[in-house]
Amino acid sequence: MEIKTTKYKIDASDYYRTDELFLAEEEKIVRDSAKAFVKKEILPHIQTWDKGIVSPHRTQEDLVRSIAKKVAENLGIFGLTLTDLGKYLEDSSFEPISHTAYGVALREIEAGDSTLRSLVSVQSSLCMFAIYQYGSEEQKKKWLPALHRAEKLACFGLTEPQGGSDPGNMMTTAVRKGHGWVLNGNKVWITNGFADVAVVWAKTSEGIRGFLVEKGAPGFSNRSEEKWTFRAGIASSLSFSNCEIPGENLLPKTVQPPGKDLASPLSCLTEARYGICWGVVGAARACFEEVVQVTKTRKMFGVPLAQKQEIQRKLVWILNEIENSQLVVYQLGRLKDQGKLSYAHVSMAKYNNVSKACDISRLCVELLPADVFTFDAYHSGRHFRNLEVVKKYEGTHEVHTFVVGREITGLNAF
Ligand SMILES: Cc1cc2nc3c(=O)[nH]c(=O)nc-3n(C[C@H](O)[C@H](O)[C@H](O)COP(=O)(O)OP(=O)(O)OC[C@H]3O[C@@H](n4cnc5c(N)ncnc54)[C@H](O)[C@@H]3O)c2cc1C
Repeated sequence: MEIKTTKYKIDASDYYRTDELFLAEEEKIVRDSAKAFVKKEILPHIQTWDKGIVSPHRTQEDLVRSIAKKVAENLGIFGLTLTDLGKYLEDSSFEPISHTAYGVALREIEAGDSTLRSLVSVQSSLCMFAIYQYGSEEQKKKWLPALHRAEKLACFGLTEPQGGSDPGNMMTTAVRKGHGWVLNGNKVWITNGFADVAVVWAKTSEGIRGFLVEKGAPGFSNRSEEKWTFRAGIASSLSFSNCEIPGENLLPKTVQPPGKDLASPLSCLTEARYGICWGVVGAARACFEEVVQVTKTRKMFGVPLAQKQEIQRKLVWILNEIENSQLVVYQLGRLKDQGKLSYAHVSMAKYNNVSKACDISRLCVELLPADVFTFDAYHSGRHFRNLEVVKKYEGTHEVHTFVVGREITGLNAF
């Protein structure tokens, strides 16, 4: 989308030329592959999936598994930032991608749909990261290659019914029994709860620890939720009723000093939140591009809507916010690639980028005709519904303000 100026040709899809100037060539290749994948494999189908139609697949689980397979085959992105992944893939030519490249890929993926980005975030940033960071060598060998290729899917069970914002108030317990463990409790709203392996956080006599609970473990069941948003994805409740798992399924490095035992699950969340900060820029941009196109062609009172000052004021506000969010994620990427990224940086970026993306998608819904309320006519309505979830999960808007507020003041407002 070119914009005419006297001196330079400006492109609204890269207004400040950040992609052009800041991305390395290999990062541009990752971006372009993700964009091409979304255009070919996701955009033609996403509205049908959003309506709840999964055919030719038998079930929604089959659909999610087939999308994950396609992502793995076309982009190979699952776990691709993990430096030593090549060792577990037994591939000496393996080269990890930069965190910036991962981020920019997630931006393109979420321009398709937030559920698709969520699938990547859960598999890569929550689950593969947890196993890579806190698992034994045997666990890494067993799970990382299969998860990278999406032959198996994983889910991350932290949230409980009594309140996701306060994970310290965890009720799920794990008690040693002989060489194994027995789990009891409930998790709710777990993305891909049907998965082959669940990374489950539970209270033990040594504090909160992580466990790998495999599908079919006795006493382990799941039930998926019906929802009016995130419709191309699955979120489920998990139930553990005297669920017995072998001793070797404990993630052995999830030991933290007393009072710091949430550090392991929270470190996984920081990884995933980093990706969210990038992803929502893509969703916001998808809404913006749709609205520019429609308002330039839809005539009202004899002229295109986009010729009205009020419409242009709104379009400029949207583009300005998208570009501001874009600058934030480039800086996050740089900090992460240099090992200087703090969870508090990520909190401020999630706070900003997600709420801006929500505001943008809401405004885009406002700017489109009433057909926006159908499933078929436009994409912005779906992004609007999805983004409200993105604002709630992985730390609500309020939770992130308290994290940043604590950094500024030294006072805990939780
Ligand atoms: C589609 C979807 C997928 C999800 N996937 C996963 C997953 O894979 N794994 C997982 O573990 N979880 C997952 N979640 C759960 C998600 O992380 C939680 O919904 C989130 O953490 C919020 O928890 P809650 O829903 O219990 O809301 P609550 O924690 O009950 O919060 C309700 C409201 O109270 C506010 N609030 C809380 N504390 C305070 C305070 N001190 N002061 C002021 N306001 C406060 C919150 O900001 C929020 O607005 C998913 C959720 C959804 C919707």
